[in-house]
Amino acid sequence: MAEMDTARGAEGDEVLHPGSSSGGNQAWFDRACRVIPGGVDSPVRSFTSVGGTPYTVARGEGAFVWDVEGNRYIDLVQSYGAVILGHAHPAVRAAIDLASACGTTFGAPTVGEVLLAEAICARVPGCDQVRLVSSGTEATMSAIRVARGFTGRDQVVKFDGCYHGHADALLAGGGSGVATLGLPGSAGVPASAVADTLVVPYNSVPELDEKVACVIVEPVAANMGLVPPSPGFLQALRDACDAVGALLIFDEVITGFRVGYGGASARLDVRPDLWCFGKVIGGGLPVGAFGGRREVLGVLAPQGNVYQAGTLSGNPLATAAGLAVLGVMDAGLYGELEARAAWFAASLQAAMDEAGLVASVPSMGPLVGLFFGDDPREDFPVRHFAAARRSASTGVYAKFFKEMLGRGVALPPGPYEVMFPGIAHDEALLGQVVDRAGEAATAVSARVS
Ligand SMILES: *Cc1c(COP(=O)(O)O)cnc(C)c1O
Repeated sequence: MAEMDTARGAEGDEVLHPGSSSGGNQAWFDRACRVIPGGVDSPVRSFTSVGGTPYTVARGEGAFVWDVEGNRYIDLVQSYGAVILGHAHPAVRAAIDLASACGTTFGAPTVGEVLLAEAICARVPGCDQVRLVSSGTEATMSAIRVARGFTGRDQVVKFDGCYHGHADALLAGGGSGVATLGLPGSAGVPASAVADTLVVPYNSVPELDEKVACVIVEPVAANMGLVPPSPGFLQALRDACDAVGALLIFDEVITGFRVGYGGASARLDVRPDLWCFGKVIGGGLPVGAFGGRREVLGVLAPQGNVYQAGTLSGNPLATAAGLAVLGVMDAGLYGELEARAAWFAASLQAAMDEAGLVASVPSMGPLVGLFFGDDPREDFPVRHFAAARRSASTGVYAKFFKEMLGRGVALPPGPYEVMFPGIAHDEALLGQVVDRAGEAATAVSARVS
């Protein structure tokens, strides 16, 4: 049973029976479906793979969201990682207010974009320059164009189950929503657009040749559930790229400034040639960035002949929000967050084991995954997409999701996503999630067996 926000400032622990309310979520979703395809602006938000009607969010604060019926949820979605400080954080709100009073977009250089670019480069060893864009999709699409322009080659190697946004060339073998909907790729993408995209299994080093412009990888895969890199995998990839003169691209749209102060490359000590960022660096507003060595980015117009542009790129509101987030997230806070997430993952694992559900709860920094299986020795740990798919095919995630939502905990509505505990999820709150997970797992276990 989800919790009701009974009054302004109330603790919100009054119990509301699902279905006993006005049906506001259904009404809003019906209205959405009339004017928005599928009722959502991004497919992963739909409840296609878990069943039921999505809750329509009225507001969020810290670790919580409230839907239009007043139900309160402990939110582990956190905009798929775009939010790390919790919803409506005072520092972010203040920064946006201040920026908005000075104008929202100009089509000329601004101070905010310089400060955000400096902050990113200062935190990521080897990243000399970044160009700001408005989404992660734009970042990866542009990084690939730079890699092709720089090398004069066409082929792109990507890993099965890694998601790099929805640009044509990168939609083959995608994780996240593409995987959730069971699409091999996407209709509307001509074969010619993916003819130079090679898809290979995660955590094995592919054989490369001199036709390859770049290898793009999520250094910690977080769009097929959470699949950390095997020891040595990223360094071996670095070496394989160097051997044939291909560029290595780390898509750090999720991992950037989340798995550590300098993101995955700094944490795992492997340097790509190009980085893609998004999510955290926008503080919940639309931002992406791609960056790399000065020499490589030199191919971009106006200096070079690789074209890339954006009317709203480096938007003052978004850069202000991003800077506010990076300003709060000092090295100590990453340590705290990681320690809490590790405790949360271990406690969740114990709760699953106790309930008799075959599950694996991996974690990496503050990222926490959840896989279900049939046989723990055969199915875990999950190291590649085929194994993630096998886990998803058990169908247990959907059952668990529903039990958790009914207990006031919002997990991502699909088995290929991860949980995003952030600064606002303190240990007491994560403890509540663990307790409810134990109840939910017991309920699912009773139905599965
Ligand atoms: C979310 C995501 C993207 C796409 O970013 P958008 O802002 O949704 O376009 C790209 N790569 C990874 C790893 C992501 O998680």
